[in-house]
Amino acid sequence: MSEASLLEPANDLLVARFHVIVGPANTLTEPGDVLPYTEDWTGNFRGDALAVVRPANAAEVAEIVAACAKSDVAIVPQGGRTGLCGGGVPIAGKPSVILSLTRMNKVRSLDIAGRTVVAEAGIVLEVLQAEAEKHGFVFPLTFGAKGSCTIGGNLATNAGGSNVVRYGNTRELCIGIEAVLPDGSVINALAGLRKDNTGYDFKDLLIGAEGTLGIITAAVFKLFPKPAARATAFLSVASLEGAIEVLNAIQDRTGGAVEAFEYMPQPAIDVICRVFPDIRPPLEGTVETGILLEVASSRQSDARELEDGSISLQNDLMEILGELMEAGVIVDAMLAQSEQQRGDLWRMRESILEAITKAGPAYHLDISLPLANIEAFVREMDSEMQSLGFQPLTVAHLGDGNLHYALAAAEGREWTSLPLDSAKEIAFGLLVRLNGSFSAEHGIGQSKLPVMSKLKEPAQIVLMRAIKTALDPNNIMNPGKLIPPR
Ligand code: FAD
Repeated sequence: MSEASLLEPANDLLVARFHVIVGPANTLTEPGDVLPYTEDWTGNFRGDALAVVRPANAAEVAEIVAACAKSDVAIVPQGGRTGLCGGGVPIAGKPSVILSLTRMNKVRSLDIAGRTVVAEAGIVLEVLQAEAEKHGFVFPLTFGAKGSCTIGGNLATNAGGSNVVRYGNTRELCIGIEAVLPDGSVINALAGLRKDNTGYDFKDLLIGAEGTLGIITAAVFKLFPKPAARATAFLSVASLEGAIEVLNAIQDRTGGAVEAFEYMPQPAIDVICRVFPDIRPPLEGTVETGILLEVASSRQSDARELEDGSISLQNDLMEILGELMEAGVIVDAMLAQSEQQRGDLWRMRESILEAITKAGPAYHLDISLPLANIEAFVREMDSEMQSLGFQPLTVAHLGDGNLHYALAAAEGREWTSLPLDSAKEIAFGLLVRLNGSFSAEHGIGQSKLPVMSKLKEPAQIVLMRAIKTALDPNNIMNPGKLIPPR
C-alpha cells in the first residue's frame, strides 16, 4: 500500500470493500506484492497503486468498478504487462487501483460448427493458440510476447504481429465482446454472430481503446482451419522494392497463402547473433533485404508428398522463388527443411526486441506506411539517421507495412550525445510526407502522447474526447493514457 493511502480512511474502506468482493487473497496491498504490477515490460514506466485487485469473473469486475467510481479512484486494467507504451501501469497524481485480469483465464466454450471460441480476457495468447490447435483449428494472432501477453491486452491494443498479412489485426479476429463500462454496467455480446448490424458497434470502440473506455472481460474470436502444409524460407532479396514484388508474386501464385512476410536486414541479424550467440545467421554472407517468409495451406493436395520426398507446397514455393532468382530479384534463399529449422528462424525473428533492448539504449518507432512508400522511407531515414550518428536497427512486419524502426548509437558514438529530438522530428516529418501512421500496433499508452498531440488530426482528438466524456465522465478508466491532455 502506498504511503498516501495509509493516511486516507476512504482508501482503507475501498480496500475493505475489495476484501468482500474478491477476498483478501486477491487484494494485494503489501508493497512487495504490489511492486511487480507497477512496472511495464520496458521498465520505462512505473506508477504507484493503492492495491492490485484480481477478480474471477465479470460480476466481480463490475462490483470493483462501481466501488472505485464511488470513491473516485482510477482503475488501470492490466493483462500480461508486455505493453511497450506504459499503458498498463498507473500514472502519478491520481489514486489508482490495478485491476489484473490474469485469474480470468478460461476458454468458456469452443464452437466447432461455427468455428469460434469464447475466451476470458486474462488467457495468455499462447494458451489460446494451443487450445484452438487441440481442436484442429488455428488462432492466428502471434508475436514475440505470446507466452506472456493476454488476449484482453491484445484487444485493448488491437495487437498485430506476424500473421496480419493474412488474418488481420486482433480487431478482425474478434466478433463479440463482454465488457464492464466505467459506471459498472456490463455489455454482453458473446453470441458469436458474424453479422449483427443493430447500431453502434461498441466492440470496435473498446478494441484499441487501451482500457480507457471499459474493461474487456471476455471475447469471441474466429478460428481458422489448421494448415495441412507449411513452407518457411529465408530470402536475401536485392531491394525492398524487390521484396514487395516477391510478396505479390507469391500471393498471386498461391491464392493468398502468405502467412508472414517479415523484413530482417543484416544489422538486425547481427545484433541478434551478438546478443544470443546460439542463434546462427540463416544464410552465408551478408543478406541484402532479408525476408522471413511463411506460406501455409489447409488443402490436402498442398500437403502431398512428392517422389523426391518434398511437400507439394514447398515445391511450388521453390519454383516461384527459383523464377524470381533467375530474374535477379532474389539473391539467395534457404527453405526450412524441418520443424526445428522453422523454429530456429522464428526464434531469431522473435528475439529481436529483446536483443536490441539488451544491446544498449535505443529509441523505437512503431510505424506503418503504404507498401509503395516503404523503400523511400527506409532509404531516406537510414541516410539521415546515419549522418546524425545513429545506427538504424529495423525489422518489419513488411507484408502489412509495419516497420519497427529502432535507433541505436552507431559504433564509437555515445548515446547521450546523440540528437534524438532532431532524429524524431526528421522521422515524423518523413512519415507524414509519405502518408504513414506514427503508431501501428503497440498503442499510444503514455509514451506516444506527445506525438499523438502533434500528429493526430485535431477533429479526431475532439471526437475521442467526446466519446471518453460520454462513457467515463469522471475519467476513472485508465486516465492519462491514449488521449492527449488538453
Ligand atoms: P498489458 O501490457 O497488460 O496492457 C496493455 C494495455 O491494454 C494497457 O493500456 C492496459 O490497460 C490495457 N488492457 C489490458 N488488459 C485489458 C482488458 N482486459 N480490458 C481493457 N484494457 C486492458 N504488440 C503487437 O501488437 N505486435 C507485436 O509484434 C508485438 N511484439 C512484441 C514483442 C515483445 C517481445 C514484447 C515484450 C511486446 C510485443 N508487443 C507486440 C506488445 C504487447 O505484447 C502487446 O501490446 C500486447 O497486446 C499487450 O498485452 P498484455 O496482456 O501484456 O497487456
